[in-house]
Amino acid sequence: MLEIFKIGFLNFTVMDLIDIGIVAVLIFWLYRALKGTIAVQILVGLVVIIALSFITEAINLRALNWILRTISDIWLLAFIILFQPELRRLLLMITRNPFFRLFVKSKYSETIREAMDAVIELAEKHIGALLVFTRTQNVEMTVDTGIPLHAVVSQELLVSIFNTKSPLHDGAVIIEDQLIIAARCVLPLSSVTKYDGKNLGTRHRAGLGLSEQVDAVVLIVSEETGSISFADSGELTLNVPKDRISSYLRSKLSEKSK
Ligand code: ATP
Ligand code: MG
Repeated sequence: MLEIFKIGFLNFTVMDLIDIGIVAVLIFWLYRALKGTIAVQILVGLVVIIALSFITEAINLRALNWILRTISDIWLLAFIILFQPELRRLLLMITRNPFFRLFVKSKYSETIREAMDAVIELAEKHIGALLVFTRTQNVEMTVDTGIPLHAVVSQELLVSIFNTKSPLHDGAVIIEDQLIIAARCVLPLSSVTKYDGKNLGTRHRAGLGLSEQVDAVVLIVSEETGSISFADSGELTLNVPKDRISSYLRSKLSEKSK
């Protein structure tokens, strides 16, 4: 292989350079995904257990060493279970990459138009609503918490669903391409309770919570204020002006504005 330099018997080649580069990028991604999460503390715990198992082996504490070794032997499994939300985020970061987006075509144009009209009507009437627009990942688990619909998105249907007299109005609707897959779905609450100094109610926390876990854009209409907000990738955009919603949603769902 193309050799760059030599330290003693070590040959440093172009392939080594590429190898180190890739590993560095992977570590950086892992760091970005885990930054500020409880996972870092768990990771420290794992490192302590592994260190202890070396020490106990060195000073011959056999029983303790056996226990620690057993724990560290199953660490990979424990790692996957404990870090499940973080690993999910990491995988999402990969599929959210613009390169992968090229392969995921969106058929959202008509849906967006109908949904926008509905959302604006709901906001004007101060009717609370939660709309989940899925992107690449399936949301089966969330869909299972609600009532299945599989109905074509229309302004009238959405307004009827969120009408406070409707048995379906509580919770969220899940929209996939042109279909409302389900209504009255329960979304996972975010642990965030304050955003930009504002207290978040459960509707907003539910929207934010889902966006932390699933590749979807969540549109939230506030019953209290009639304002419209978006949640995406664990970020909230509060109080989006009405004339911006359509273009905002279009860009979020990676479809060019017409
Ligand atoms: P608003 O601005 O509309 O008042 P909020 O963020 O202050 O919203 P709440 O007033 O607590 O939140 O809204 C309660 C409504 O939010 C419930 O009636 C329900 O429809 C919806 N909601 C609450 N929790 C969830 C959840 N986990 N999943 C889906 N919808 C939820
Ligand atoms: Mg409220």
